[in-house]
Amino acid sequence: MKKWLALATLPLAYTVGATLYARIKKPSRITRSLASPNTVYLTFDDGPNPYYTPQLLDLLKRYDAKATFFVVGELAQKYPHLLRRMHKEGHAIGIHHYAHKSAWQLTPHQLQQQIEQTRRIIYAITGVRTHLYRPPWGHFNAATMHIAKHDYVVLWSHIFKDWKATHNNLHLLKHPIADGSILLLHDNGDTKGADSTAPSVMLKALEGFLATATQQFLALPGEDNEC
Ligand SMILES: [Zn+2]
Repeated sequence: MKKWLALATLPLAYTVGATLYARIKKPSRITRSLASPNTVYLTFDDGPNPYYTPQLLDLLKRYDAKATFFVVGELAQKYPHLLRRMHKEGHAIGIHHYAHKSAWQLTPHQLQQQIEQTRRIIYAITGVRTHLYRPPWGHFNAATMHIAKHDYVVLWSHIFKDWKATHNNLHLLKHPIADGSILLLHDNGDTKGADSTAPSVMLKALEGFLATATQQFLALPGEDNEC
């Protein structure tokens, strides 16, 4: 009976247990904010998207704001010109798995493949070896911290449910916002559970936020420049 109980508990420990440990215990390699005076970090997940990402890059350029893009490897492969543009315009690029899959569905070997394949794609396109990693949905499995042992695992200080076109919390995207905050937004609405037009709502809210900002917006540190 005890053996069965242990076996039934194992998958929970591998998935939910590992995620709770990462979120509650807060190991030092997990970043939620930085001690950076007068600076806010914008991060965008799930892209690149051929329709919304160029609009976002235009907007960031207009306000001289730098950001960090946690890209999906298979989309980066599909739209390499968007990664080249991100890099050229001073943004940082991080890993958000090759496909938008939760670490809960992945064996340690599959998780490693998701991360390393995306790292290689980003390197092939931009010449930059990134050490920035954000797990989709913020899900960890028991192997995550070991596999990403040379990476900065970046979560967030603020999340706005901006993958929804309505009933989001984008009204909370406003000043004042604490120095060093890491804001999580999305430049692609094609992910499962998201609304496809949600990024247009996000872009509008972001424009208002940038227009009234007094702090600077910088890319997260965590890339090795090799080119
Ligand atoms: Zn995501």
